[in-house]
Amino acid sequence: MLIYSISKTAKAETHTTRLILSLFITERPRVEMEVPMIETTAADRTPAPLAYTDEVRKATDALYPRVAGVIPAIEWPSIAPLIKAINDLKAERNAVILAHNYMTPDIFHCVADFVGDSLQLAIEAARSDADVIVQAGVHFMAETSKLMNPDKTVLIPDLRAGCSLAASITGRDVRLLRERYPGVPVVTYVNTSADVKAESDICCTSANAVEIVESLGVPRVLMIPDEYLARNVARQTDVEIIAWKGRCEVHERFSAAEIRAYREANPGVIVLAHPECPPEVIEEADFAGSTSAMIGYVKERTPRQVVMLTECSMSDNVAAELPQTEFIRPCNLCPHMKRITLANIYDCLLRMEHEVSVDPAIADRARGAVERMIAASAKTKAKGGLARARSAAA
Ligand code: SF4
Repeated sequence: MLIYSISKTAKAETHTTRLILSLFITERPRVEMEVPMIETTAADRTPAPLAYTDEVRKATDALYPRVAGVIPAIEWPSIAPLIKAINDLKAERNAVILAHNYMTPDIFHCVADFVGDSLQLAIEAARSDADVIVQAGVHFMAETSKLMNPDKTVLIPDLRAGCSLAASITGRDVRLLRERYPGVPVVTYVNTSADVKAESDICCTSANAVEIVESLGVPRVLMIPDEYLARNVARQTDVEIIAWKGRCEVHERFSAAEIRAYREANPGVIVLAHPECPPEVIEEADFAGSTSAMIGYVKERTPRQVVMLTECSMSDNVAAELPQTEFIRPCNLCPHMKRITLANIYDCLLRMEHEVSVDPAIADRARGAVERMIAASAKTKAKGGLARARSAAA
């Protein structure tokens, strides 16, 4: 696994990223996230409710306008029975559904109780009096929800919902890094397993990464596991960043050439990018920020035309709320997020299956890293938004 150190250099008022050293610690093939698997067969499943009865229509008519822009009316009768069944089960189980911004609009707008970034969701859930949390997102998010809600039952509709970024590093890797860089604090992106968080000094999100790095008051930090987030942070701070070569398989696929092609085909279009994208993409975009920061940007500025360089469903979810803005949709789907569907949310609530737990031996340490981030963020009054790459976004 390649790690390297990067720092900002000032050259004629531009921020350039400089590789200071590179070395190989171990060579490890890319792995899928290891999560417990439960095999089910079609015969095990409970048939999903499908009849579009008067009762279903009455219970769901008020929900359809929320998704009318993205779900054709002809499809609604096949979706509405499941939506009603899920909402009934939530009441019966005293459950809430946390839906990440990358969930499909039927989940995001019709059954979710809390929507947003993973950490924001976990914190919101802790304020609710629900007994059960259903995580409509991937496995590390469910772990974070469990860390922040240790007394609640946390369920995930599909245990195979992993993440290329979270799978790029283990707790053992972090211990090796600490041996190689004694005394250098470890700043860990929240998109990691509880095992990795437990080995870290402090967590960060894509919204507060620069503030968290600078809050430590040290000249050098290890920033894991997203290589591109680390490089994008290094452009904005004098702190030397030692990065790990983890990547989000959705965001690494965007390119600067693609942005130029969108601009040529759509003159005046505003381009927003997630900081997990390669630095040359951030450089070419009008604005870079976390999912929440991008949503805030579109809601506040209501651009005529926008491209969001992130997972497909996020554009669909924002477009459903903001019909006045035209979304040009480059479509990079996250296969892990797309494992979560209305049908398996229904199954998991009906059967109370796929509970997510965190080993008590690591839970307290992992929670500590998240809580230190929350405390540091409050202190530095992080504003939420990583960087503005160009001034054209005005
Ligand atoms: S979008 Fe990227 S970071 Fe998010 S779950 Fe999918 S692979 Fe992981």
